[in-house]
Amino acid sequence: MCDHYVEVKVQLEQMKSLGEDAEKQGVDTEQVPVSSVSPDPSSITLAGRDASNTSITCKHRGKSHSKSGKDDKNLCGKHISGVSVSTHVGKNLNRLEHEQTLHIKGTGRILQGKSETNGNYVTIHPSKNIQETRREDGYNLARKRKPVTVDSSKAKTSLEALKLSIKQLKWKEFPLGRRTACDIYWHGVSFHDNEHIVSGQVNKFPGMIEMLRKINLSRAVRTMQELFPEEYDFYPRSWILPEEFQQFSTQICMVKENDATVNPTFIVKPDGGSQGDGIYLIRDPSDLKLMAGSQAKQAVVQEYIQKPLLVDKLKFDIRLYVLIKSLEPLEIYIAKEGLTRFCTEPYQEPCQKNLSHVFMHLTNYSLNVHSGNFVHSDSQNTGSKRTLSSVLYRLAAKGVDIKKVWSDIIALVIKTVIAVVPELKVYYQADIPPGKPGPTCFQILGFDILLMKNLKPVLLEVNSNPSMRIEHEQEVAPGVFGYVPSPVDEEVKVGVIRDTLRLMDPRHRKPSMLQVQNQVKTIVNISTSGGWLAVTQLTKALWVVPMGLCFGSAVPALLSPGQHKKQEISSQLRAGGFEHGEAIPVEGETRERNPDEGGALPSLCLKPVYPKYTKQFNYLRLAERIAALFIRFLGVKGNMRLGPTAFRTFIRTCKLSNSNFTMASVDILYIDITRRWSGAVPDSREAGMGLQAFVEAFFYLAGRRFKSLVLREQVVSLLELCEAQLEAQLGIEDRRSLSCSRALPRAIKTQTLSLNPLLSSPAPLRRAASQDYRLHQRLNPRTLRANVEN
Ligand code: ADP
Repeated sequence: MCDHYVEVKVQLEQMKSLGEDAEKQGVDTEQVPVSSVSPDPSSITLAGRDASNTSITCKHRGKSHSKSGKDDKNLCGKHISGVSVSTHVGKNLNRLEHEQTLHIKGTGRILQGKSETNGNYVTIHPSKNIQETRREDGYNLARKRKPVTVDSSKAKTSLEALKLSIKQLKWKEFPLGRRTACDIYWHGVSFHDNEHIVSGQVNKFPGMIEMLRKINLSRAVRTMQELFPEEYDFYPRSWILPEEFQQFSTQICMVKENDATVNPTFIVKPDGGSQGDGIYLIRDPSDLKLMAGSQAKQAVVQEYIQKPLLVDKLKFDIRLYVLIKSLEPLEIYIAKEGLTRFCTEPYQEPCQKNLSHVFMHLTNYSLNVHSGNFVHSDSQNTGSKRTLSSVLYRLAAKGVDIKKVWSDIIALVIKTVIAVVPELKVYYQADIPPGKPGPTCFQILGFDILLMKNLKPVLLEVNSNPSMRIEHEQEVAPGVFGYVPSPVDEEVKVGVIRDTLRLMDPRHRKPSMLQVQNQVKTIVNISTSGGWLAVTQLTKALWVVPMGLCFGSAVPALLSPGQHKKQEISSQLRAGGFEHGEAIPVEGETRERNPDEGGALPSLCLKPVYPKYTKQFNYLRLAERIAALFIRFLGVKGNMRLGPTAFRTFIRTCKLSNSNFTMASVDILYIDITRRWSGAVPDSREAGMGLQAFVEAFFYLAGRRFKSLVLREQVVSLLELCEAQLEAQLGIEDRRSLSCSRALPRAIKTQTLSLNPLLSSPAPLRRAASQDYRLHQRLNPRTLRANVEN
């Protein structure tokens, strides 16, 4: 084996090991092979189609190649003053994960947990005594044996991949739906595919389609670019048409006047378009195909990346699958394997002559499949569609630092999700208002990413319905087209769906924030006495951390004896996180092997990236805090816009008006901004101030109040001011409601507690976000970026 090959292999192994944490969250802990793709792939794959076509013509398909490995655990034991500890240490020393069983002398209590040297979290699971543990285990096993039920009646084009996934998991599919509730509902298009779901989990978030339309995504990223220009430089400069046509023209003219040698190219994309439909390139604003009046089509015009990275002289892009497992707390996973889609005409930098060559400039499968040069290869390393890992192998072999590329891609994904989450939360509370029964949501997104020649990843777009088809269209006889199985698609997409289901397995579900809050109140009272401090109780396990016993760097800071105060602990838990972004993910249950899976499944292909990298990215979540304020003042459940009275209430409550800024000025501000935004969002049926308009108003107010600071400092300062006012206000209300609630019957008290955590935005979390922001200001952002994978 030559040295170079070894080097490449090591690099790829390292890259794969980045995903090992997924296994910690997973239901089994088997080793993942270097490549999770099929050894027998076909190069013919299908991608880039949105899931709208329901026809499935092919029943025959290749086998899925599930791989299993060995459990890689060692056992060792040790004693710590009166507590016997058996520790399972993972073979992989880089991982250094310890599973611990603690027998507390004289109590018969057993505690299990694990720690990581990276200090990310500590979980300890006690039970009262061995007998009880067994009884509970028996109950849990019986519960677990009941297969998870999945309603696939609305799965549309993802049906085939879903069926295979359910089969691999030995779960129960209901292809025609079910009269009683299912655990999971799989929708092909939108949250609203099935309107009558009141429980379980749905694979779509309300509002995701709207949020990820080209214009909305551009707006959301732009807000973040205003606050954090350096961090959000992965999205090409964009203008929204027709409203920003003038700005676009003026800016381009200025650029050209300043430097005559600069001749930029722009790509125009219709707002609701997909699969490359209606896309064209221009070199001058006068080439825009704008229509007047009501015919004016909304579009995004974007700086065209002129120097993409080429492989085999061809332009290509990456389709990456990303799972948003939860909005609150934010949990993001990235699939370790993805697809690359290749152009079918050798790339040349754009010039007037080649601007219309779609096979040279657009990587969409749906377009290139019609080119005579499209290659349906049997290998995943050649052809017009390949696996991401095969391309990374190629790059690594050329000496490219693919670990850095991968780390930049992860950062891009997290930052993009952070940009869209604020508005998603507004949609969420409108569709599933607090207190109303409803399902919880998760969603797989398709990120389209282009690598520039200098290897910097650029975000092209995010698909809310990435194609999950595992067949591709092919000419089966002269002039006759049909769908044939595509092993590469199957390998990648079935893996993503199956592992999403595994992560969403209701038998491993953690309780809602509300359950945690309620449980904690009881536990803190009982457990502080015996030298053990209860942190939280989950459905199956009470998490207890021994005082003074350290399992990770998060612990000493978190659980110093001084932190015994009930209120403090309770509020930290409400926050779902701890000081300075020390998120403690709930993973205890997922360590257990799912009996239904029988250990036959491969390791998870989904790698957790958030909250894992909370420390690096939490400071960016400013818009989310603005959204929390916005939601708080929305008032009527199901509303998405703020009326003038609500806006006034916000100003009053946060004490933002004074003699220089009277309530009359507040009204003018409201009317001015709302009018402008209602023109910008023509299909908005609801009157009032939407979140984007509110953000603009907030920026304005922040600028007025803290003139001497830069925008992001202004925003942070105003956020802190508003949050402090609200906190004080809440304190008064809490005291009032407490005295009233003594007289209330139990049922009503529970309802009063049923605050949606999305709305409550607890103080410690906000403080942590502010601290993260302040800390970040002191550190070099580049250093943080480089640390993403460490
Ligand atoms: P659609 O949803 O119609 O596929 P995309 O935004 O994904 O729209 O663009 C289609 C294709 O155009 C991409 O796959 C990519 O090849 C190319 N493309 C899009 N934006 C850019 C850009 N800013 N620079 C270079 N190429 C781009």
